[in-house]
Amino acid sequence: MKKVILITGASSGIGKDTALSLIKHGHVVYGVARRLEMMKDIIHAGGHAIKMDILKERNIDDVVNQIIKEQSRVDVLINNAGYGLWGAVETISIDEAKRQFDVNIFGLAYLTKKIIPIMRKQKSGKIINMSSMGGKVYTPFGAWYHATKYALEGWSDCLRIELKSFGIDVILIEPGVIKTEFQDVMMDSTVERSIGTPYEKKLKALEKATQEMYARGIGSPPSTITKLIIKAINSHNPKRRYVGGLFAKPMLFIKKWFGDKMYEKAIMSQIKKAKKE
Ligand code: NDP
Repeated sequence: MKKVILITGASSGIGKDTALSLIKHGHVVYGVARRLEMMKDIIHAGGHAIKMDILKERNIDDVVNQIIKEQSRVDVLINNAGYGLWGAVETISIDEAKRQFDVNIFGLAYLTKKIIPIMRKQKSGKIINMSSMGGKVYTPFGAWYHATKYALEGWSDCLRIELKSFGIDVILIEPGVIKTEFQDVMMDSTVERSIGTPYEKKLKALEKATQEMYARGIGSPPSTITKLIIKAINSHNPKRRYVGGLFAKPMLFIKKWFGDKMYEKAIMSQIKKAKKE
């Protein structure tokens, strides 16, 4: 059945791949992001693209009003927009950390709050939140990013219980390493911030290891995650969580069944291995 779908972060990576695929499946897709010029392909494919900064409440209001005016409903909200802020806690300002939370949590929450009453009146809907394996496991220097994704996990679990009786499903997606613009954004300013601090050497090594890993083409394609989202949309009884992409299942398995100590050993040995290769 044709659904009206709103997806954030549709200008690149997972969001773009998912938007294009959902259009091919015959759905009415609204892709939103700040870079409108990066969503021309969504328009060419028969979808809608709207400029929206998730930090601007008025932008969000306008998007929701436009969809309701044109379609009178929203069947699926895919909260995908997000970025990773990497670096030592000591060197990241509280303003940068707040921005990380504003994009990955509060912007997403504002949009979700606008969509809930619409879905409640429809007595149906799916809210799909893009978490990460990083919502359950942690990596060096990712404190603020992991904090937002851990928060999203708990927030989504509570919301699921709140909205169940209204016929609204809340679903979490937990990707592993996916090849997108995420890695470029994540290392942006990370090393500069650390210059002259005790973290400089470690962060330079992390940047080098990350660049080399991606230069070798490591990471799953965004379509791995698109398939999971489509599965969740098509299911009458969706799972609470869908996991996929490089490292996600083994990392979650180790943390769950062997505990934090073993998990930390595993992650540090992976990083050492990546540095040597
Ligand atoms: P990309 O960097 O390729 O895409 C991020 C998207 O978020 C872009 O479309 C960007 O659009 C949008 N975005 C960022 N900031 C804002 C903002 N202020 N307002 C509106 N949109 C914004 O990364 P991915 O596709 O990889 O990331 C998508 C999601 O997947 C994120 O939530 C990320 O945390 C998660 N994820 C990614 C993993 C990976 O390895 N790639 C692993 C696990 C989770 P624009 O700049 O045009 O506004």
